[in-house]
Amino acid sequence: MSGALIDGKAAAAALRADVAEAALTLPRKPGLAVVLVGDDAASQVYVGSKEKAAGKANINGQVHRMPGSSTQAEVLAQVKALAEDDAVDGILVQLPLPGHLDADEVIATIPPEKDVDGLTEASAGALVLGREGLTPCTPQGSMRLIRQVMPDLSGKHAVVVGRSILVGKPLALMLLAANATVTMAHSRTKDLGAVCREADILCVAVGRPEMVTADMVKPGAIVIDVGINRVAEKKLVGDVAFEGAKEVAGHITPVPGGVGPMTIACLLANTVAASARRQGVPVPE
Ligand code: NDP
Repeated sequence: MSGALIDGKAAAAALRADVAEAALTLPRKPGLAVVLVGDDAASQVYVGSKEKAAGKANINGQVHRMPGSSTQAEVLAQVKALAEDDAVDGILVQLPLPGHLDADEVIATIPPEKDVDGLTEASAGALVLGREGLTPCTPQGSMRLIRQVMPDLSGKHAVVVGRSILVGKPLALMLLAANATVTMAHSRTKDLGAVCREADILCVAVGRPEMVTADMVKPGAIVIDVGINRVAEKKLVGDVAFEGAKEVAGHITPVPGGVGPMTIACLLANTVAASARRQGVPVPE
């Protein structure tokens, strides 16, 4: 039997429509500032789509383009100016930064209440402590897709393969907060197949094309494939061997069209939430 597809494109479109409506209910239009240093082609594309998506969601999106030769002091000064700008509710520094810059120091300059990428120590700390805060967009998007097919995760066994700061670690914390029993697997895990086969919810964020195969999937499991790997000029594949895995899984995200589209939608949702808190009104549902 073939598993049902989790349509990230449709879920992202629905979330973006909700966010656009919520933005209109705020006293002031939410503002999202993106800092882009240098002319990396992929980053230019990502930033362009974030700016466009913000506009469509009734968010004032502004991109601050800085030359690749910018100094650490110049980038810090730009982020500090945005931190002090009352009309800016969310600050995102497009990564990676050019090699001569210290990304950690730049990120640390973002005030936690404007950290719409959820990457500061304060945001990570809030997630660990179970306090209110802004959570990273890709794991948040993954959680939204899981909840769409399984609203109550209590007692379910979730396995997260990958322990990066950006995806695996925060996703495991979010699953734990949702009362799942969580196992984190990584490159040193022994018998990864056996660990994965235990999962009612299998989340894979590794960056290795089609590494998780059908025999590693428990029949009926929810499979969330975060990976985006370019394997040929125009072909993208996930970290899960989709064709085989979909025959075993209960629900599965495709690549592209799964977790990917949710990331920008969650960035917009974070911006509206940050704006509502900064304007002293309830965060729209
Ligand atoms: P990282 O490279 O930062 O982390 C990869 C993780 O996978 C590490 O924890 C590593 O373990 C683990 N790993 C590597 N090889 C193996 C293996 N053979 N077995 C088990 N675990 C392994 O990647 P990211 O988390 O940043 O990204 C993961 C994937 O998600 C990438 O394909 C990326 O493109 C994609 N991505 C997609 C996004 C989206 O919007 N959909 C956003 C961000 C990322 P260890 O810690 O032991 O080295």
